[in-house]
Amino acid sequence: FIEINQLNKTYRTGDVVFQALTDVDFALERKEIGVILGPSGSGKSTLLNVIGGVDRADSGTVKIGSKFITDMNDKKLTLYRRASVGFIFQFYNLIPNLTVEENVEVATNISAHPMKVDDILHAVGLTDKKKRFPSELSGGQQQRVSIARAVAKNPELLLCDEPTGALDYKTSKDILALLEKINKTLGTTVLIITHNNAISGIADRVVRIRSGEITESWINKEKIPAERIEW
Ligand code: ATP
Ligand code: MG
Repeated sequence: FIEINQLNKTYRTGDVVFQALTDVDFALERKEIGVILGPSGSGKSTLLNVIGGVDRADSGTVKIGSKFITDMNDKKLTLYRRASVGFIFQFYNLIPNLTVEENVEVATNISAHPMKVDDILHAVGLTDKKKRFPSELSGGQQQRVSIARAVAKNPELLLCDEPTGALDYKTSKDILALLEKINKTLGTTVLIITHNNAISGIADRVVRIRSGEITESWINKEKIPAERIEW
């Protein structure tokens, strides 16, 4: 479902050129959970942003389903991103002056969605908080809202940039369990990037990235549910 071949990406700041990704190859099947492991500064967010169509690579190809997004013009890339990709970030990025319910509603792709906003809020365990504002919620609850918002788009692909980075281990397990549930029930392909090795336990496929290069990649034969992760 995701096929990446020989991807290269540099950042230019004035005269300074920094090679952020070097000849990256990566593949993930539809309906799988993928984890990209790497330390800070290794290029994880850069890679995720290219896959999600928020940034461009210099060379190489990214194919999502049957489409090469690296061949798309800006307009097509934006359409792909809006229609197909949900994003979850470490710091939630909720709209502060909208309630929980409204944060989810603004993102809803109602026409094609199998669930209603109330169903989604129920699924993430936030029915009783739907009239609250983000500032009135705990970090874990805010992350649930951001997951609900991403799910409301009914994306084919859910891209998660350090989704548990700001949470304690217990809350992190709950959030990962929720991502697993979405993957199972809606068939959403989930890609998580993290520096936390433990998270790779829930993955079907794992790659390790270091200084912009993939150093290892494997199929996880001992996949476990999030509740059983040893943190
Ligand atoms: P973290 O775990 O800290 O989020 P990361 O693996 O997501 O790190 P990236 O954000 O992809 O790392 O950054 C990879 C490298 O590219 C870093 O060395 C960073 O300094 C550099 N970089 C990222 N964005 C830019 C930019 N806009 N301009 C110049 N360099 C950048
Ligand atoms: Mg990052």
